[in-house]
Amino acid sequence: MNKIGYFSIASGSSGNCSLFFCGDTIILIDMGVSVRKLNNSLSSLGLTVDMLDAVLITHEHTDHIKGLSTFAKKYNIPVFMTKGTAHAVLQKIPHAKDIIHTFIGCESFFIKSVQVKSFLTPHDANESVGFILNCKEINFGFATDLGFIPLNVKNMLSKCDFVVIEANHDIDMLKNNEIYPYKLKQRVLGNYGHLSNVACAECVVDLVKNGVNTIVLAHLSEKNNTPVKAARYINQMLFIAGLKCDLFVAPVNEMEKPIFFEMEMDKCLALG
Ligand SMILES: [Zn+2]
Ligand SMILES: [Zn+2]
Repeated sequence: MNKIGYFSIASGSSGNCSLFFCGDTIILIDMGVSVRKLNNSLSSLGLTVDMLDAVLITHEHTDHIKGLSTFAKKYNIPVFMTKGTAHAVLQKIPHAKDIIHTFIGCESFFIKSVQVKSFLTPHDANESVGFILNCKEINFGFATDLGFIPLNVKNMLSKCDFVVIEANHDIDMLKNNEIYPYKLKQRVLGNYGHLSNVACAECVVDLVKNGVNTIVLAHLSEKNNTPVKAARYINQMLFIAGLKCDLFVAPVNEMEKPIFFEMEMDKCLALG
């Protein structure tokens, strides 16, 4: 596969798992689906689990590591996470020890030709991170599960061509949700919770102003947001700011097809 692209296998409060590929390097971000679902999604792209080079884990919440226990029993593929995340993960999944590789938040490392940089995210987890992946002059940013966007994170995402960013909830839908207990609402709305459509839009406007041209809205709450609401609001804010970008919403289940940054690597190189 001589292309650079992104494919969301699942996104939202019930499970998160996505794929970044650049040439022959294939990286999974988060393992929040069953191994069966992972296999099915990969085979729809003509891939198999054995073709994965690595898995990156953002943090230890169940919706990001649900499939990791079975994955660790079946495959010998390296899984990278921060030391803090590993500490929390190993308490739940001790047999994953042999495939887990740790890094310090903010450290960068290589998976084949892809440079992985991480940044710490404000979230109620043990050393959670987001990622910037650099491959062939293309920067891909990934930031979900964060209560707000710290300035250093915004600066890093601003240098990307393609950004996946959380648009978790519509504030009114969350506040009016009759099923959510008060404490849970406070958690989601807090600085260590999740990003609202409003906070996401503020960041997206700044990113697009700085040259980011493709945005994927991700980790939408199934109970407190809708893809139409999120996309409409963010598009509206871009329009008011006189800006435009390619905007996608990662569905709860897998995307219909991958988003290719550029169809052919040669073209990317030519652009670089
Ligand atoms: Zn999550
Ligand atoms: Zn989380």
